[in-house]
Amino acid sequence: MRIRFLGTAAFEGIPSLFCRCGLCLKAKELGGKEIRSRTSMLLDDDLKIDFPPDTFLHMVRDGLDLERIKDLIFTHSHSDHLYAEDLVARLPGYAQSDAHPIQVYGNDAVLETKQFFAENGVLKPEANIVVTHFSHNGQLSHSDLTEIFTPHGIQVAYDGMVLELP
Ligand SMILES: [Zn+2]
Ligand SMILES: [Zn+2]
Repeated sequence: MRIRFLGTAAFEGIPSLFCRCGLCLKAKELGGKEIRSRTSMLLDDDLKIDFPPDTFLHMVRDGLDLERIKDLIFTHSHSDHLYAEDLVARLPGYAQSDAHPIQVYGNDAVLETKQFFAENGVLKPEANIVVTHFSHNGQLSHSDLTEIFTPHGIQVAYDGMVLELP
């Protein structure tokens, strides 16, 4: 299975739209991994997690064929995870699509911590743990985050990152 991190920021993105804080200015200057769009992941080519307002950007940047999506999972209904207005683009008149059904799933589940998973035996020892969904409020650059999480065996996601799983 392949996991593609399409966007790895919280609601406001990094840089945040109207922000002049240190992290946002630095992100604009450095670009690359410091630019984080709103959160979403693609598993192989057909299961998408969340549908943020940056989906158009993700499609163009990574050359995605969104019509291959069969399942769409919403982690929750905040606008950075569910920008339902863009789903209208799949209707006749806006898209020449296969018109196959897309199964949609959603619930109120929140992110569980590594501790919780470990305590409950959910994770195998060789499991990959990746952090995503960053806010500029943390004022942490990609290299800051990497420094913090690497000693704990946790990878820091960046936009466009791809994980290949056996
Ligand atoms: Zn969010
Ligand atoms: Zn900022």
